[in-house]
Amino acid sequence: MRKYFFTLSIFLLASFVTCAQGKWSIALHGGAGSASVNMTKEQITVYETELLKSLEIGKEMLKNGSTALDAVEAVVVSLENNPLFNAGKGAVANSEGFHELDAAIMDGSNLKAGAVAGVRDVKNPVKAARLVMDSTAHVLLISEGASAFAKQMGLEIVDNNYFTVDKKVKQQSDKGTVGCVALDVYGNLAAATSTGGMRGKKWGRVGDVPIIGAGTYANNNTVAVSGTGHGELWIRRVVAFDISALMEYKGLSLEEAANKVIFNKISPMGGSGGGVIAVDKNGNISLVFNTSLMHRAWAKSNGEQGADVLKK
Ligand code: ASP
Repeated sequence: MRKYFFTLSIFLLASFVTCAQGKWSIALHGGAGSASVNMTKEQITVYETELLKSLEIGKEMLKNGSTALDAVEAVVVSLENNPLFNAGKGAVANSEGFHELDAAIMDGSNLKAGAVAGVRDVKNPVKAARLVMDSTAHVLLISEGASAFAKQMGLEIVDNNYFTVDKKVKQQSDKGTVGCVALDVYGNLAAATSTGGMRGKKWGRVGDVPIIGAGTYANNNTVAVSGTGHGELWIRRVVAFDISALMEYKGLSLEEAANKVIFNKISPMGGSGGGVIAVDKNGNISLVFNTSLMHRAWAKSNGEQGADVLKK
């Protein structure tokens, strides 16, 4: 019995020390794009306030020893429920006037991933993505099959018009794919992304978000990345994986890798551009975009924190 208590105390002490010493970092985005009309100070404040609210959820979790995976999912759920963003409630409509949503999540500790594409009635697509990862032998489920699975797993199902919100509520903005990346106190990285896609997209179009390696990627050896922007370019350039590969195979720093991919590989392709948020295994954060704005917020265990919309 005494031996048992001794082992238990050592275990608890070790967990406490890991938690207390381990550093954490988190970054989130609420979409990138070019400000078509100049944003007012008030609009910017609205976005920053909402981004910080979601950031707080992730920060608290990481501080209290939650895994990066749970934190990125919870942050993305909060952004999906926020009508300001183009994910979950507030998702843009496709060419036929209805909503089709994509989401993905990836666990950098074991390279497990889950995603859904083209779902029309799952309230929180990122939760469905997590369940695909945790409870199936697959990575990506689409459309009705994904919805049936979500329903079977007990997720909330809604009418397609639940996602529709007045443009005024969205501060006249079309931007707003959401994503979150995090490093937890145990050294694990995770990424999650969710979107309604691009406004007016063809019925059935799937973007980069649920394509692992394009819009979403995490690997404990390198980095966790979540992208936003012109998804077709992100797929063609395999953006998120490319950042990881440049770090792993070429030894580039996170900042070098992210800048190279966004400015040397994406920018020359034209299109409407976009950006990435990324956190590496050492807790460094990179927020890189070639558009005039990217809604973003970040925090680290050393107290650094911020939220921004426009290019600095
Ligand atoms: N990347 C998203 C897509 O192409 C859209 C966005 O981030 O704004 O579906």
